[in-house]
Amino acid sequence: MFDNSIKAYTQACEVIPGGVDSPVRAFKSVGGTPPFITKGKGAYIYDVDDNKYLDFVQSWGPLIFGHCDSDVEEAVIKTVKNGLSFGAPTELETQLAQEIVDMYDYIDKVRFVSSGTEATMSAIRLARGVTQKNDILKFEGCYHGHSDSLLVQAGSGLATFGTPSSPGVPADLTKHTLVCEYNNIENLKKCFEDSNDIACIIIEPIAGNMGLVPATEEFLSACRELCDKNGALLIYDEVMTGFRVSLTGASGIVAAKPDIITFGKVIGAGMPVGAFASSCEIMNYLSPDGAVYQAGTLSGNPVAMTAGLTNLRKLKANPNVYTELNNKALRLVNGLKEVASANNIPLQVNTRGSMFGFFFCEEQPFNIKQVAKCDFDRFAKFHHEMLKKGFYFACSQYEAGFISTVMTNDDIDECISAASEVMKSL
Ligand code: PMP
Repeated sequence: MFDNSIKAYTQACEVIPGGVDSPVRAFKSVGGTPPFITKGKGAYIYDVDDNKYLDFVQSWGPLIFGHCDSDVEEAVIKTVKNGLSFGAPTELETQLAQEIVDMYDYIDKVRFVSSGTEATMSAIRLARGVTQKNDILKFEGCYHGHSDSLLVQAGSGLATFGTPSSPGVPADLTKHTLVCEYNNIENLKKCFEDSNDIACIIIEPIAGNMGLVPATEEFLSACRELCDKNGALLIYDEVMTGFRVSLTGASGIVAAKPDIITFGKVIGAGMPVGAFASSCEIMNYLSPDGAVYQAGTLSGNPVAMTAGLTNLRKLKANPNVYTELNNKALRLVNGLKEVASANNIPLQVNTRGSMFGFFFCEEQPFNIKQVAKCDFDRFAKFHHEMLKKGFYFACSQYEAGFISTVMTNDDIDECISAASEVMKSL
């Protein structure tokens, strides 16, 4: 059933490293060949072997209204006919920025970029420029894109200077990156005791890159307090959670508010868009008003802005959308938990808005070390068997899943009954 994908993958591997343009797509952690996709429609995607899958990945998060949403499609086609890019200002950028500014009390200005990586990289430069400090603090298991100083793996649970997690990143470039354990307040305090040069904390307030692991309210409040006490800025990386877990993302549902927010994914509806946003006071440090340099040939691209604008306006127009999405996410994970338990398989589940996660382990994980203890072999088998039955889950237990508005309760129930069969063989 995957013959054409196997052929396509073999050909791709000849001319593209690992056959993919982003490593996770290669299915390395679950094995097998990634299906090569030909099209998407609504809640489904189709591959080169004509297999149809219910899509819980949604291009890793952007497609909250599913594939080929007619409003996004129409708006994009209209804009395309006026030209793809000008490298000059358009009113579309102002309109999208205005939509975002109107949503938050503490956001006055937005700068658009073309990816989440650029958004976090630029937000960090801005925080360093504003505070005149050098160190940045991130957490184990939080992913903030692949820029050098953020590509750091934690060594242990102790506050430690980060070592690069990829060859090609000189240790000199990560020596200012401090890494702490997620949800560990003592560890966090120790970091601030060890360094008086911390420009910012960057955190996924609801982590989606170690499966779905939300930070506790206490932990986020501790981040806020320590930043305030030490003259550091708090950056919420909402590339995944922005406009996804609520209209105002994680920032909208937790008590502690950030100084800077980074966006990606839903803000572009599937087009390459990222952004970072903050108060006037902070954003005015940015070039050309201020001295902190940041730029991009395709930043604020009109087609991408149109897609994002349509997505955000649709979300804004339907205040019930997040409750409906969360109900579906709960229906899915509770159903999975039930069929797992019927087969004596321990399964931990989480949802936040339309994001969900599940772990094959005995106890709910709160950090990446606990996630790493989950049963990855069982996950790989589950993934593979579900794929064969037409359900496309993220290909790693370290990834979150997504519900789209076009996914029906019947779709979810079908998934649960397929999972019930699969669990018997795990
Ligand atoms: N931050 C977070 C929280 C992310 O999930 C991602 C991507 N998954 C990024 C940053 C990087 O975004 P991009 O892949 O668009 O560069």
